[in-house]
Amino acid sequence: MRLTFSAALLALLPLAAGAEVPAVVTDIPVVHSLVAQVMGDLGTPDLLVGGGSSPHDYQLRPSQARALANAGAVFWIGPEMTPWLADVVAAADAGDKMALLDLPGTQLRQFGSEADHKDADNKDHGHGGRDPHAWLNPGNASIWLGAIAKTLAARDPGNAATYRANAEAAMKATEQLDADLKARLAGVTGGIVVAHDAYGYFADHYGLTVVASLAGGDAAQPGAAHLSEVAALVRGGGAKCVFPEAGHDPKPAVALAGETGLVVGEAIDPEGLGIAPGAELYAALMTALAEKIAACAG
Ligand SMILES: [Zn+2]
Repeated sequence: MRLTFSAALLALLPLAAGAEVPAVVTDIPVVHSLVAQVMGDLGTPDLLVGGGSSPHDYQLRPSQARALANAGAVFWIGPEMTPWLADVVAAADAGDKMALLDLPGTQLRQFGSEADHKDADNKDHGHGGRDPHAWLNPGNASIWLGAIAKTLAARDPGNAATYRANAEAAMKATEQLDADLKARLAGVTGGIVVAHDAYGYFADHYGLTVVASLAGGDAAQPGAAHLSEVAALVRGGGAKCVFPEAGHDPKPAVALAGETGLVVGEAIDPEGLGIAPGAELYAALMTALAEKIAACAG
């Protein structure tokens, strides 16, 4: 027992002695924001999909592939969000790799299991499986903040207390944000139509009704057959607003409104593509979402 324990300690020694703030790579702006909150003044994580690019389809640059290979820690949502990243993350042999969707305690929802998937053709488009937009439930963001801190603390023990304190402050702020958004959205009674199937977590958590999505969860361009199904759903009643989305062509939303009499809301941005990356992005994204939905459908 004693021998095993010493051996384990010795194995840890080189890492502990050389520990310093690791190079950290994140996949999308939301994850970058959460990790930036945990790192605070200690460092800034790299962001792979910045500059307003859609994370669902993206081409990794060679310099980004190198950064991934050399990272001390990689935090990403998981292959459902960025399928193109799965092989690269698997091949990177250095450091910790954490797919946030896999973290214990994360509340997951499946595509096609909720009211926003009434349209019959979804199954043909392969929309089954885990819905990756899980940050839109702030409870998940809180769980991830704690896990990110734990991983960074283990890799960089000298700064463990700072990672933990930063994460605790961020979790408190997230709780307050959640309470504010609940209050803001309490008066929303009208159903909404959205540009892509990203809002299930937000709708479930805040009691909103997503009547239909113009595109599926992978944000691929909707076909004519699907669009006429959406129009039929809307004519069935319950929807008040249709929201264009950052990074998506607004034409299908505007056309649907013209056809059905829905009000066109301000463009919403569930992935933070139009918000400056940084620690503040998560709260800004969630607040803007709530404000714009409440302004149109409240
Ligand atoms: Zn999406």
